[in-house]
Amino acid sequence: MKLNNDIFKANNERSNDLKINGYYYDDKAIVYELNGILDGYNSQDYSTLIEKSVNENKGIKHVILDFSNLTYCISVGAGNTTHILKKMGEAGITLHLYNLNVKITEVFKLLGFYSMFSIIFDFQEIYNFKESLFPTTVNCLRCDIKLRILKPGTFKCSSCQQVLIVDDNKNIELGEI
Ligand SMILES: [Zn+2]
Repeated sequence: MKLNNDIFKANNERSNDLKINGYYYDDKAIVYELNGILDGYNSQDYSTLIEKSVNENKGIKHVILDFSNLTYCISVGAGNTTHILKKMGEAGITLHLYNLNVKITEVFKLLGFYSMFSIIFDFQEIYNFKESLFPTTVNCLRCDIKLRILKPGTFKCSSCQQVLIVDDNKNIELGEI
């Protein structure tokens, strides 16, 4: 199934360093294949483009960014990816990052972004999420800041760096590094 989206196609011609190809995985999920690099010139267009495209394709519950053919991503690109995450969250859509390479994984981890995302290595994993409970918001046990949690697991508070563990039932406890 092809995306019915003219804005998407038009904007996609603008960057030489990044090509984005979108298609439906199934009737609830869109995949965007990123091809090239995310740099200071195209990162803003990248997030604007994806957000517009998702808006134009109603009924979507999952968005998968396929990083298989993305060779490099500067910190601004990772930052723009968190912007997409925020927008998707507001729309009740879960964002998944598929197949990040080692370098890009490092960039996301250094910035503290990695644990914010659903990282998948198989498209079918998007349906492993407990949609009724996650994503959710919890308060950090140490600094009380509100944290958005996508799935059960161990992560660091973005504010105070406290390690926290959230289980399948949204119970939260302090963890150790
Ligand atoms: Zn905290």
